[in-house]
Amino acid sequence: MAEFALIDRIRARSGARADVVLGIGDDAALLQPAAGQWLAVTADTLNAGVHFPVETEPADIGWKTLAVNLSDLAAMGAEPCWGTLALSLPQADAGWIDAFADGFFALADLHDWRLVGGDTTRGSLSLSVTAFGQVPHGAALRRDGAQVGDDIWISGTPGEAAAALRLWQRGALAVERAAADAGHEQLRQRLLRPTPRVALGLALRGIASAAVDVSDGLLADLGHIAARSGMGAQLALDALPLSAALRGSFDEEQARDCVLRGGDDYELCFTAAPSRRSVLQVLADQLQLPLTRIGVMQAGSGVQGDGVQGPGGYQHFAG
Ligand code: ADP
Ligand code: MG
Repeated sequence: MAEFALIDRIRARSGARADVVLGIGDDAALLQPAAGQWLAVTADTLNAGVHFPVETEPADIGWKTLAVNLSDLAAMGAEPCWGTLALSLPQADAGWIDAFADGFFALADLHDWRLVGGDTTRGSLSLSVTAFGQVPHGAALRRDGAQVGDDIWISGTPGEAAAALRLWQRGALAVERAAADAGHEQLRQRLLRPTPRVALGLALRGIASAAVDVSDGLLADLGHIAARSGMGAQLALDALPLSAALRGSFDEEQARDCVLRGGDDYELCFTAAPSRRSVLQVLADQLQLPLTRIGVMQAGSGVQGDGVQGPGGYQHFAG
């Protein structure tokens, strides 16, 4: 099968959008951004064996390839709009492309995100998306906006994707088939089909002072907010949300380590003034997504945690 036949199979799956003047098929796409909006642009690459186990099902690879990019847009408070896909494939395999497209376009259609171009080459399996979103002038959620005294919040149940990865690495879970254990299956889904927190990111415009998506673990990603905002972060380790699925497979200390050091969850970590607490609780109810207050921004630098080692027990993590 030739390259153009593969591209045709992908083009057949990409839907329409009024602001796509010209999509797949010409030398470049033509897009009409809305007046008064900034473009938010991000790129993320997934390499087989590095960013996902080689035995991962193509539909799951498709979903995740787009999810990690939509998550970056969510973390900016941007509305996902369009993007491109650079595919490097070991062989031109129509069945693989169709299965990949099942996962990729399932997520794209959920968010009215349109694939408008890309590139297809032969090589080891690698998938790279460049995604564009829109955010009103001045309304983006940046890493550098936190203020001393702001609360630190985390969405959802972080640590579950890392838990699945650790179970897979020790041979206790197969990524390519459903797990018999319901708790394991929940963890596996969180690794393979992360939910980009798009609705949350949009709702946090005007509420959050800074935001980041958790791809490398809470410590590392909160550390980015602290560094870019020129201050420190104090984590209340006892406040970290540890899901039942996480606690079903790991003891408390390991579960907390999954949250702190495990990436791949794509939850949003954000800061907001204490005056925003009640509005954030209302938002959590509306979105049916837990939002948990896990610390406070403070003068200094780096991320430190307290609470677990008893009175006076501080742990300096980074920075
Ligand atoms: P060119 O040689 O001008 O770069 P190509 O033959 O590579 O054009 O691509 C033809 C059209 O198909 C272009 O519109 C390109 O954006 C699109 N395309 C190529 N690969 C992909 C892909 N993996 N996903 C989506 N669109 C693609
Ligand atoms: Mg080309």
